[in-house]
Amino acid sequence: RQEQYRAVRDAPSTTRDGEKVQLLLNAGLLVDLPHIAETGAAGVGLFRTELQFMIAASMPKTAAQQKLYRAVLDAADGKPVTFRTLDVGGDKILPYMRNEPEENPALGWRAIRLGLDRPALLRTQIRALLNAGGGRDLRIMFPMVACVSEFDDARDIVNRELARLVKHGHPVPASVALGVMIEVPSLLFQLDEILAKVDFVSVGSNDLLQFLFAVDRGNARVSGRFDTLSPAFLRSLARIAERAKAAGKPVTLCGEMGSKPLEALTLIGLGYRSLSMSPASIGPVKAALLEADASELADFIKPLVARADGAATLRGEIEAFAAER
Ligand code: PEP
Ligand code: MG
Repeated sequence: RQEQYRAVRDAPSTTRDGEKVQLLLNAGLLVDLPHIAETGAAGVGLFRTELQFMIAASMPKTAAQQKLYRAVLDAADGKPVTFRTLDVGGDKILPYMRNEPEENPALGWRAIRLGLDRPALLRTQIRALLNAGGGRDLRIMFPMVACVSEFDDARDIVNRELARLVKHGHPVPASVALGVMIEVPSLLFQLDEILAKVDFVSVGSNDLLQFLFAVDRGNARVSGRFDTLSPAFLRSLARIAERAKAAGKPVTLCGEMGSKPLEALTLIGLGYRSLSMSPASIGPVKAALLEADASELADFIKPLVARADGAATLRGEIEAFAAER
């Protein structure tokens, strides 16, 4: 198997009918970086910056943050890296930060909410990112955005920090692209508005499934109850791909779903052309897509997802279709 994946590593990531599908990796620490070269990934689709904060004994200083971000950009060697700003709070607790116990931490004071309420923390991180990205193309993404104004506020912070660097004559990135995670269902009903403002979006299928079905992703008793291959979830994903295409904005999916070959093929059928996943999944997903036909997948999956017969999941039918090919 490993041999087989090594063989596909250098092949262009293209379906049989010539559709290019970008495969990126999810990372969060320095030890992840050699995987970029090993897997032949097109870049880092999700860099989870909170990991540095979670393994530290005290709040990482700007210099330490900057050092990590610069190392990531160096390792990527010109390939795109999407840095997600701190996604802490909820279950991702920083032991050195005072924390009020919360009844529903997943729905609580976390991610961009915390970032906007404590702008010093977000500002420091943005500053570190802008400094590390000096002279290069920088991509920053905000987690758990639930309404358009949160993106506006976060973008204002970036612009203020950029202006500050310029004023002091510091080097600035060659370009700064700003995006949001689509992982809170409220954004499904503000897609056109948010897409008009961002440079890109990335679907966090882990949290989107959790919040769409009201099912705690960390609770084994319920987490297996709803399927990413259910009509409700696939319709949500189809809508995102459709509206992003109409707006001309790139969309990636960076949740665990994209790491599974059957799910990845389903996403290609729904119009996704960029997936970010754990390093070990790039080989299997690539092997699957090299043998797939994107237009055949679309012809199969789109009517199936639109069919209204109350099915809880379409997994059996999608599996049967894949097995047949
Ligand atoms: C997600 O929610 O799908 C995601 C990619 O982010 P995380 O798993 O870090 O919450
Ligand atoms: Mg998430």
